Amino acid sequence: MSSLERYSSNRLRRLIGSLNSIRFKDDTGEVEYFGQQVVMLRRDAFALIRDELTRVAGGASQVILGIAGHTVGEEEGKALLARAKALGVKLTQSLPIFIRLAVEETNMGYGKIKIEDFDTESGTVNISISNSFEVDPYRHTLNATCAFTLGYLKGIFSQLLRRHFDGKEVECKGKGDPGCKFRLTIRPQSNAGTSPK
Ligand SMILES: [Zn+2]
Repeated sequence: MSSLERYSSNRLRRLIGSLNSIRFKDDTGEVEYFGQQVVMLRRDAFALIRDELTRVAGGASQVILGIAGHTVGEEEGKALLARAKALGVKLTQSLPIFIRLAVEETNMGYGKIKIEDFDTESGTVNISISNSFEVDPYRHTLNATCAFTLGYLKGIFSQLLRRHFDGKEVECKGKGDPGCKFRLTIRPQSNAGTSPK
């Protein structure tokens, strides 16, 4: 890595670090993370909501969670880009590093995310998560369970690269695989006008 690259990587790392900070606004009873309002939700409460949603809505629950995750990913991507712009970070040269840091080092509590490879030619990204928050360690399912995370990854990549991404969870710890693996692909340009969801 050249000194210029290292310099820009360090700046980007600081940028991500500044976004990872959490603010407890005790006077108003609010919590701000990533410059946005959040609530602290126990993982088991999320699991309970998801299970009930599945019971009531069946397969549609995956779609709903996917849309929710997509929205969060998009907003996070927007926040990151706005912050980079405000700090004068030139993203044209450092975009690959920026994307890696943005996706791997922003800790939303979803699990340890790793970009395994990103083929810019074909527009395919392989991502792994060893400890997805959507996996119930005590119960195996028939299908992949991490619909929110899949939506989140599609959302953040769509924002950062300004292209729509399709994707699927190809392996999931929830159904007995060693970990969760996601494959995202850039949607061909001709369809870019349609909704990414
Ligand atoms: Zn999974």
